[in-house]
Amino acid sequence: MGGVKYMFLTHKDDVCDHKKWKKRFNLTRIIHKMEVQRDTEDVEVKLEGLGPWNLGSDIEVIFTPGHSPAHVVLLLKDRQALFTGDHIGASMTNEIFIDQVHNCYSIEEQAKSYELLLPKDFLWVLPGHWRRYKFQDLEDNNTSLRKADAVARGVTNGQSN
Ligand SMILES: [Zn+2]
Repeated sequence: MGGVKYMFLTHKDDVCDHKKWKKRFNLTRIIHKMEVQRDTEDVEVKLEGLGPWNLGSDIEVIFTPGHSPAHVVLLLKDRQALFTGDHIGASMTNEIFIDQVHNCYSIEEQAKSYELLLPKDFLWVLPGHWRRYKFQDLEDNNTSLRKADAVARGVTNGQSN
């Protein structure tokens, strides 16, 4: 249907077939430099710094450390879709959440990273694992993200646990 231009790797996990995709589509792979491991040393684009980075006018890459030291997410602006990797997802009960169980760097950093997403215009959450989710509107987006942050921080009703 026109090929594949980019392969966006949100972080170091679950990337084992990236070379097969590169070979099949001759695409450009993207990962943050701090997430590069032996198997991804030959990735074409290694992001540096804290971003954000723009790929054309419709794609923005946002630095969201926490699950891993340099996790990033990708905002597809014209579709209002955020590819969230392992940063946030939706639970079986259909609630947005910040995964603490599989965190391999800093839950505190992961929770803080949600703030960068609040001003972003997206309705879809498309995670690497878990369920996808669609907010009703941007107000629902912000309310749900704040609730997920509060749960991750162990804060309810303004009090810390
Ligand atoms: Zn991961």
